[in-house]
Amino acid sequence: MSTDSLPVIPHWIDGARRASTSGRTAPVFNPATGEVQAHVALADEAEIAAAISSATRGFEAWSAFSMAKRQTVIFKFRELLNARKGELAEIITREHGKVVSDAMGEILRGQEVVELATGFPHLIKGAFSENASTGIDVYSIKQPIGVAGIIAPFNFPAMVPMWFFPVAIAAGNAVIVKPSEKDPSAALWLAELWQEAGLPDGVFTVLNGDKLAVDGLLTDPGVHSISFVGSTPIAQYIYETASKHGKRVQALGGAKNHMLVLPDADLDLVADQAINAGYGAAGERCMAISVVLAVEPVADALIEKITERIANLSIGNGASTPEPDMGPLITDAHRDKVTGYIDIAEQDGATIVVDGRGFSVDGHENGFFVGPTLIDHLPTTSRAYTEEIFGPVLEIVRVETFEEGVELINSGAFGNGTAIFTNDGGAARRFQHEIQVGMIGINVPIPVPVAYHSFGGWKASLFGDSKAYGVQGFEFFTREKAITSRWLDPATHGGINLGFPQN
Ligand code: NAD
Repeated sequence: MSTDSLPVIPHWIDGARRASTSGRTAPVFNPATGEVQAHVALADEAEIAAAISSATRGFEAWSAFSMAKRQTVIFKFRELLNARKGELAEIITREHGKVVSDAMGEILRGQEVVELATGFPHLIKGAFSENASTGIDVYSIKQPIGVAGIIAPFNFPAMVPMWFFPVAIAAGNAVIVKPSEKDPSAALWLAELWQEAGLPDGVFTVLNGDKLAVDGLLTDPGVHSISFVGSTPIAQYIYETASKHGKRVQALGGAKNHMLVLPDADLDLVADQAINAGYGAAGERCMAISVVLAVEPVADALIEKITERIANLSIGNGASTPEPDMGPLITDAHRDKVTGYIDIAEQDGATIVVDGRGFSVDGHENGFFVGPTLIDHLPTTSRAYTEEIFGPVLEIVRVETFEEGVELINSGAFGNGTAIFTNDGGAARRFQHEIQVGMIGINVPIPVPVAYHSFGGWKASLFGDSKAYGVQGFEFFTREKAITSRWLDPATHGGINLGFPQN
């Protein structure tokens, strides 16, 4: 509980900011300065119940809106978001630390899903089969599922909720967003924008909190689905707990994404892309490249090119002008975890080619910075290789063949994203076929699919059978009814027949 005079970030329930009465809060830092800038409310049982009951009422109202009326609200939301996204980018940078242009990038990728959702009637159309049996028509309709819980990670406070809520709301559901307690303000801003767009109260709720709020959403029968994005152990817990309570679940987990570089690749392109995908957002992206698998003899030349580029990167406060390339990590605890993995790599015999430990930015000595780090000769038995680091750390692993690279990727626990860099179309085609990963880039390092395809990994990167957004998103947020119908007319009246119906 806070005892200072800093603001307490509230919930958004029933179409208004609701101050918390739980007496529990968590600090929200400015990662660039290390200062606590606010506190966020942590919901108690009464607040969780209030959020669910408001969302239940919101669902009843919203699901009765015609599709045309729903579409008008979503179009309006898209227009407001497009016009005012600069405000949201600044909020993200203030609490997350990423540079403003990168915050804008995540908003634009989220906005793509809003744009997809504007065309929702086409995506939730049913199907009709006339005269399936004599005089009998069979048709299916898609209806919303009810109240959808969305539990977000800290690293994309706007985009990740936007992977789900435009689709859920378009399909006629109400949503409760539980933001990360580390950067909760983006969700509140989005709630106000929905209200301005004309969304009825209760359709978009923000419930701030920690495990207590999450567990409330997972277990309350008033919540019908859970969309989660976060680390793998929590994703697995979410999947198991929500399933046990009868909910539909999609739980996206962590990642360790590899880039396989074949000897024929353009090494300048590879070095640029490794830098962008490894150090962008300080490596706090689930689709970041963490490991460069260099098929020999390219490793030495590639390391030289990456090292040259690291020397030119600027690191600082993401809100500064001119804008640096990279900002800080989210918390001091996370910074220590990341530097701890660099220690482990070193203890396990790796070479630290560029060391980001102990990095300091002038005027921001208390900020949570780690410099871009490059590690070579990392043993694949090291925990620094097998586990997700989620920081600005690129690891080089040298392999002799394409097959050795594919084997290493396929033997890992995660299967979120991967990329191959080559000019050999046959090798790329073989890679896309053999690799056990959900999203693949061919000479593209962060292959986040566009909104009309779906986002999701394999193995420990996704629990459940449904990816985010795209057609699969609409499947997740609707349930189908099949209707078999006969309108009696004298020509088809079959009379009494107690036998099992046959065609
Ligand atoms: P996290 O798992 O710590 O937290 C995610 C959410 O779960 C937060 O809202 C948090 O409040 C809640 N939570 C945390 N501990 C909990 C517990 N014990 N019980 C119930 N709820 C709990 O993840 P994070 O640190 O916020 O985000 C980073 C992680 O998210 C990384 O592992 C990253 O790879 C992953 N991620 C994955 C994707 C993807 O698409 N697969 C996308 C973005 C981030």
